[in-house]
Amino acid sequence: MKLILLGAPGAGKGTQAEFISEKYNIPMVSTGNMIREALKNETELGLKAKSFMDAGQLVPDEVVIGIIKERLDNEDCKNGFILDGFPRTIPQAEALDKMGIELDKVVDFEVPDEAIIARMSGRRVCGACGSSYHTQFKRPEKDGVCDKCGAELVQRKDDHPDTVKERLRVYHEQTEPLKDYYAKTGKLRIVDGQNDIAAITKATFAALED
Ligand code: ADP
Ligand code: ADP
Ligand code: ZN
Repeated sequence: MKLILLGAPGAGKGTQAEFISEKYNIPMVSTGNMIREALKNETELGLKAKSFMDAGQLVPDEVVIGIIKERLDNEDCKNGFILDGFPRTIPQAEALDKMGIELDKVVDFEVPDEAIIARMSGRRVCGACGSSYHTQFKRPEKDGVCDKCGAELVQRKDDHPDTVKERLRVYHEQTEPLKDYYAKTGKLRIVDGQNDIAAITKATFAALED
């Protein structure tokens, strides 16, 4: 199964991608996690991306398209994958089409901006494996520690309310047009992202199987 998860920053793409990945046994491909990993390792890519990320801006298309091409060529993506956070612009979607990728579904999680701002302040992510938690809505078994790998949970610098506002502006301007782009293919499914996590997972699985 080849999937794209769309939605505003903080809409719950990463959270749902983890559940889909387990159920269908396909890898989740998160450009955000890949870029943060590059940053941590101080690679050329990481250094290039840092200023954009910190300012809540998108990293240039050619940079992300390059990392996605390389990632999807990997053997573990042969039977499918979940794209979380890519594409985020029309040129990125066009690049995916040019790669000859046949998508099964595009799931869009709809959450109003006001709810996003509140949600992001409680987000905590694993510094090692990228898993995402929430101080209120998705607490780890042990405070501050990742359930999956035991590493420390941290707050992302770009989850500060001012940066979140800019990311939402960028989302509406550059990413939201992708809904129309994929609606035209008949593969778009809309999921209400305002329910509790379990209800959204149920709706998502239903959308994938219709
Ligand atoms: P969220 O889903 O909370 O918005 P991500 O972890 O997906 O966060 O992305 C964090 C940041 O990484 C973005 O604000 C942007 O700077 C960069 N980024 C991730 N994916 C892309 C992409 N497809 N195109 C451009 N920039 C990206
Ligand atoms: P995205 O990948 O779209 O940026 P995440 O999956 O990281 O979003 O979710 C953003 C934050 O909101 C995380 O802290 C996550 O635990 C929490 N979250 C995810 N889904 C829900 C939900 N349905 N209700 C409340 N909080 C949620
Ligand atoms: Zn972890």
